[in-house]
Amino acid sequence: MSWLVLLLLLVGVGLFWKYPALRRTWYWLPRRGLVAFMYHHIGVLTDPTEEQYPFTISPEMFEKQLLFLKQHGYTPISEDTAVEAYKSGKSLIEKPVLLTFDDGHADNYTALFPLLKKHQVPALIFLITDRVGTPGYLTWEQIKEMQQSGLVRFGSHTCSHRRLRSLPDEEIKQEVVNSKRVLEEKLGTPVYSFCYPFGAGGFDKRVRPVVLQAGYLLDFSTKKGINPWPWKGKSSLLRAFPRGGESLWEYHLQLTRGRSRL
Ligand SMILES: [Zn+2]
Repeated sequence: MSWLVLLLLLVGVGLFWKYPALRRTWYWLPRRGLVAFMYHHIGVLTDPTEEQYPFTISPEMFEKQLLFLKQHGYTPISEDTAVEAYKSGKSLIEKPVLLTFDDGHADNYTALFPLLKKHQVPALIFLITDRVGTPGYLTWEQIKEMQQSGLVRFGSHTCSHRRLRSLPDEEIKQEVVNSKRVLEEKLGTPVYSFCYPFGAGGFDKRVRPVVLQAGYLLDFSTKKGINPWPWKGKSSLLRAFPRGGESLWEYHLQLTRGRSRL
């Protein structure tokens, strides 16, 4: 009997090794809650060895994902809706999804914005204030236009995109407070959302209190998972990370398990 168990175990391990598709989260129990997606680029990259490949979703796939949400009863929510739910502690939305984009790349205007308009889907973009208007990044004019559409809100991704936990206290505060002030001056609205550079490894217990003290209400990490809804703010928001090259099946795992890979 024990030989049989051992044999089955070996076959199982062998299959996992041979077929990477099995090393996915399909056998985890599905979860409900706020799914915050972390994206970076919308564009076309064909070489999987390129550095930006996992961070780049093709426009076709992004559109398929938006349709998938619609077909399966998910509601893409705006930052405003997330803030309201956080403040009131309640929401009638059952399957909320928040689309977030890190770094403020130029393709967020050229490739993403047309799709948001076409499908009337809101998004939240995290800007690195020192990089706005530099090559490869959004300009203030583009940001204003996106803001005026009512579909896009902007949050802070610090001034210089440094790993916050490696900085002295005073510099952490500058990154967090100055970026908020610059955005609020330029956008003419309060800025509620903050995103930690380098996500899970980028912040520690020292950093989050500074972010909350600066007046941010929602703070986003790159730790994977699905958040309680309404979100109570007890810890940073988890995000699901749809990678370039992933299938719709993997996207479904992201939506229901908070991550596609083990
Ligand atoms: Zn970033």
